[in-house]
Amino acid sequence: MNDINAFLKEHYLIPEHLLSTANMAYERIQPVISAIDKKVFYNQLKVLHAFHEEGVREGDLTGTTGYGYHDTGRDRLDRIWARVFKCEAALVRWQIVSGTQALSLAIMANCKQGDLVVVLGQPYDTLRPVFGSGNGDGALGSMGVRVQFVNPSGWDNAAISDLFSLDANIRAKIVADIPKNTRWFFLQRSRGYSLQPALSIYDIKAIVQEVKVNMPSISIMVDNCYGEFVEELEPTEVGADLIAGSLIKNPGGGIALTGGYIAGNKVCVERAAERLTSPGLGSHVGPTLGLTRTFLQGFFLAPTLVGEALKGMTFASSFWDLLRYKVFPSYEEHRTDIIQGVILGSKERVLAFCRGIQRAGPVDSMVKPEGWGMPGYNDEVVMAGGTFIQGGSLELSCDAPLREPYVVYLQGGLTFIQGKLGCLFSAIELEKIIL
Ligand SMILES: *Cc1c(COP(=O)(O)O)cnc(C)c1O
Repeated sequence: MNDINAFLKEHYLIPEHLLSTANMAYERIQPVISAIDKKVFYNQLKVLHAFHEEGVREGDLTGTTGYGYHDTGRDRLDRIWARVFKCEAALVRWQIVSGTQALSLAIMANCKQGDLVVVLGQPYDTLRPVFGSGNGDGALGSMGVRVQFVNPSGWDNAAISDLFSLDANIRAKIVADIPKNTRWFFLQRSRGYSLQPALSIYDIKAIVQEVKVNMPSISIMVDNCYGEFVEELEPTEVGADLIAGSLIKNPGGGIALTGGYIAGNKVCVERAAERLTSPGLGSHVGPTLGLTRTFLQGFFLAPTLVGEALKGMTFASSFWDLLRYKVFPSYEEHRTDIIQGVILGSKERVLAFCRGIQRAGPVDSMVKPEGWGMPGYNDEVVMAGGTFIQGGSLELSCDAPLREPYVVYLQGGLTFIQGKLGCLFSAIELEKIIL
């Protein structure tokens, strides 16, 4: 331990008081770390079992070119995914370049003129052009699909009762606000870049059950970005009809170079496949060009790497709380995503925090992150992350829209240790501007 501290002091100039804060932060999260280990064990087992059931073989790893007919690796990957998420079908493709594409594809392929889509809270920034503002102005609007937002009073800043899930009254209010003629009810598991609460799998289960009992004709889609393997169940296991997400987040295990997935009801997944390729072709084409190896390997590693990220974020929550910043979630709170919010209150602090995270990356650690008008985002955003994969956010990274109340959203970390180091480096950068 002393050797470690001596090393940190010598090479990274970390002062004694921050090392002792880090130590305190670490000591008090021990019970949470044990709980994370149990979850990782279960999810790792679940994934390995799916590989065994599907009988993955070496020939699956090589992949196809051209049309990609008879790509056994691709088809097996889809089925493994469906087994893990306990649903009928999945479409896992590098041709889906991001989570945004996966989500917009899934919803747009499954709506037709006259349908009503109801969205809970604020969708993620990059999905705003898809849903629009509720006045028919988004991409769905131009298809003649109506979009309505529900945001029952008190929901968007609802406290998580008992550190575990939303208050039952708030859940009931959410369900009461959904019109009966809704075609799709869309909700987001992670908090995204907002202060709205993340929806734990227990909340999702309760909402889905209530909707299905009272209004069985409504289908439910969940934006599952950042949620995979954080809990022992996934939205499709508690009744959601369709989920989608990104492979450069949790389920790519830090290995997948790009890609997205859609999983759930077979008919809905195939509609999305037909929109991605062509009616008549659907999921039966799509060369894998040798990427299947990395997709399978990444998915295999994902539960364990999500565990590393969760430990890092739990540490971060504990550490920044000791430094008297407001954090969400707290280190003891139940997590449903790998995001840690820290409220910093000013642009200068956000930039300093981001410099520290950048410095802890294995790549581009010398870069100083600045805000920029990233495609799909309304406000300038600062992104830090010395990652192997551009924008890869199961790797340690942080994002901050430059707007009030100046929150940084920290996420990932392929190793727990890097998550800890990132916090220490950010704390040094903050001390520099505050002193
Ligand atoms: C990241 C994210 C998206 C968009 O995914 P990209 O891969 O960045 O396009 C959508 N929703 C949520 C909640 C996200 O975290």
